[in-house]
Amino acid sequence: MKIAIISDIHGNLEALETVLSHINKQKVDKIVCLGDIVGYGSNPNECAEIIREKCQLALAGNHDFAAADKTDISYFNPYAKEAVMWTRRKLTPENLEYISNLPLDYYEEERIFVHAIPSNPGSWGYIMSNMEASREFRFFAHKVCFVGHSHSPVVIEYKDNRCKFIRRPEFHFEDDKRYIVNVGSVGQPRDGDPKACYITYDVDSRYVQYYRLKYDLETTQKKIHLAGLPKNLANRLEFGR
Ligand code: ZN
Repeated sequence: MKIAIISDIHGNLEALETVLSHINKQKVDKIVCLGDIVGYGSNPNECAEIIREKCQLALAGNHDFAAADKTDISYFNPYAKEAVMWTRRKLTPENLEYISNLPLDYYEEERIFVHAIPSNPGSWGYIMSNMEASREFRFFAHKVCFVGHSHSPVVIEYKDNRCKFIRRPEFHFEDDKRYIVNVGSVGQPRDGDPKACYITYDVDSRYVQYYRLKYDLETTQKKIHLAGLPKNLANRLEFGR
């Protein structure tokens, strides 16, 4: 079985369409979305409708629950806050309801899927350091946990209480190690590469493949300007920051 895993679309329709048409050409058995369907970008409704139709599993991200008024946004930066309020006004009642009801995590066989951290999904914590990663590995016993949230693709390997952060386009799991896989961001990458990011995971061979795809970024930026969203949200896309 092969799974495509996407995350952090953030209302970027051009990036989402590019990624889905690429996934379409591969033989995948299902598509999983790890959340943050909306927030920042100008097409929250379109993205919500596509995710609903194409993904067999979709989870909630902090920006989804922020738009649905289901989580605290006092720690959001001013641009993110402004985008949350804008998104809240734009979402149709159907899409708002869909987003409000997304689950926080999902467990299947040796896999966990969650937007932020498995130990406390609704706290929206980050896994950026060895200490944070070790804490999460101690929380679960599964082979792998797939996450999004930081918008920065990385595989974290764990063995004998030691973590290693590894960045490379493909990865084979070893039998005596466990893993946290950050799948990167479709709609707002922050690792210095502006191209849309997603992964496929082959369940039988335990093989992760990252993909980076160019999309029509100029159109996305134009639409953010036209929507009256903060200019900074358009500018950052071309730097992948
Ligand atoms: Zn996000």
